[in-house]
Amino acid sequence: MQDLSDGVARFRREVFPAKAELFARLAGTHRPTTLFIGCSDARVVPELITQSEPGELFVVRTAGNLVPAYAPGPDGVTASIEYAVAVLGVTGIVVCGHSACGAMTALAEGTDLGAAPSVADWLRHADASVARTASTGPDRVSALVRENVRAQLANLATHPSVARARAAGTLTLRGWVYDIRSGGVAEVGPVTDRRAALTPRTI
Ligand SMILES: [Zn+2]
Repeated sequence: MQDLSDGVARFRREVFPAKAELFARLAGTHRPTTLFIGCSDARVVPELITQSEPGELFVVRTAGNLVPAYAPGPDGVTASIEYAVAVLGVTGIVVCGHSACGAMTALAEGTDLGAAPSVADWLRHADASVARTASTGPDRVSALVRENVRAQLANLATHPSVARARAAGTLTLRGWVYDIRSGGVAEVGPVTDRRAALTPRTI
């Protein structure tokens, strides 16, 4: 953990003073504009990819950037979505998948997850993504990554807070796929838009 302590010391010494005014404002204000739902993968850093400042993104990261469809009951992902939309009033949600995703690779390749039963259970939230992925060739992982973003957008839309804000016209949903090698981001359309689905648009 020594490297993290060194990082904190460097942050306090070099980074914090340069943004002291921003942090002073943020100490009493929390008004993010966007809920960013990404994968827990260490290589996918929302603030870095979008060049966002502290305070701008409300972030939820899960394995495979999965968003369970709404179901009543205590659930951390649902609570975070509801808080961002209904309390903080974000105006946009981005669901961001990424290249070389371990979760999507495991599903695409049928990896035995017997030693990781919780992971196997969690990945059931991608069942619709797998079912929709027609590709069987070497492109299967990236095809699944794209289909999974669309499936999670559909799951997201089942959350009452999201449905209410969309009906009021105050919330926009977007699907992204981040390519680790190039740093590029492609926008993918919702499930209903097959043409957009087949030709992701590079941002
Ligand atoms: Zn991932």
